[in-house]
Amino acid sequence: MPVPLPALIASTLLLANLGAPLTAQAQQPVLNLYSARHYSTDEALYANFTKATGIRIQRVDADDAGILARLQTEGASSPADVVLLVDAARLWRAQIDGLFLPVKSAALDAAIPTHLRAKAETDGRTAWFGFSTRARVVVYDKAKVKPEDVDTYEELADPKNKGRLCTRSGSHPYNLSLFGSMVEHIGPEKTEAWLKGMVNNMARTPKGGDTDQVKAVASGECGVAITNTYYLARMMRSNKPEDKALMEKVGVMFPNQSSWGTHVNIAGGAVARHAKNTAAAVKFLEYLASPEAQQYFANGNNEWPVVKGLKFDNPALKAMGGDTFKAEVIPTSVVGMNQVKVQQMLDRVGFK
Ligand code: FE
Repeated sequence: MPVPLPALIASTLLLANLGAPLTAQAQQPVLNLYSARHYSTDEALYANFTKATGIRIQRVDADDAGILARLQTEGASSPADVVLLVDAARLWRAQIDGLFLPVKSAALDAAIPTHLRAKAETDGRTAWFGFSTRARVVVYDKAKVKPEDVDTYEELADPKNKGRLCTRSGSHPYNLSLFGSMVEHIGPEKTEAWLKGMVNNMARTPKGGDTDQVKAVASGECGVAITNTYYLARMMRSNKPEDKALMEKVGVMFPNQSSWGTHVNIAGGAVARHAKNTAAAVKFLEYLASPEAQQYFANGNNEWPVVKGLKFDNPALKAMGGDTFKAEVIPTSVVGMNQVKVQQMLDRVGFK
């Protein structure tokens, strides 16, 4: 049946007047991003990608474990195109569980060092890419603790530091990865004894995040704590007088400089196994390796960029002595595989 002319005109008008913006938005390509990056400053990073490509980002925020669980549950019907995680062992776990779609990108291969990306079983493809790194360092109360008493991870378990140690939960990915790296460096028996020694040295039951530990050191409640570098840098660059005052009280130590180096973790990303928009997903990952995005990781969130030769000038990273330091070099898979073992050790020694 032919549509009456007035009705046709009316609907065309409606489209032209009201429908157009909606249609344009519907046609704008969308990238579904599952992100464990919990940094408010990342907004600018995503906005710049949309500005440059016209691809809108729809984001789901959760922690690493939450994202992995969600991807497992959703299976083939998952809307996720890109996954960003903030821990090397979780990236490894997701790869092993088949949650990533290995891809080939000449740009990413050229930009990211081999040890910071994961070769897939599939010929010439990569399962995930590291885009930034962060060191897990020691902070101490400058008034009470001598730097030479905390310049190795091993000393955190030494009786000389009894009653001083504060940390977030041992089961948090940042700690599981640090402890998993210890298994690689000193073996499982010594690692378990080390964990037990740390439990004996604790000033309080593990609680809070890394920033809470730094604050507890500054307030005198704890003598020594462990934290990721970007939390420290954030406070060092803060304009708030209370943050500045806090940072004046704590010393920062990059442990194990005369042995295997300070433990470094990776934040990275991958294309989701059931991505509907693979091309846009790869484009987004390539954007994260661009000088612009890498600068952002360095200056916006105080992480070390992974792209070699990139000049960046972050006063906080420099001030804490972290512009040139010795970082440990161990395969990510090793840290990942050791985590089950480490969790059992934590349970045995009562590390909460
Ligand atoms: Fe964090």
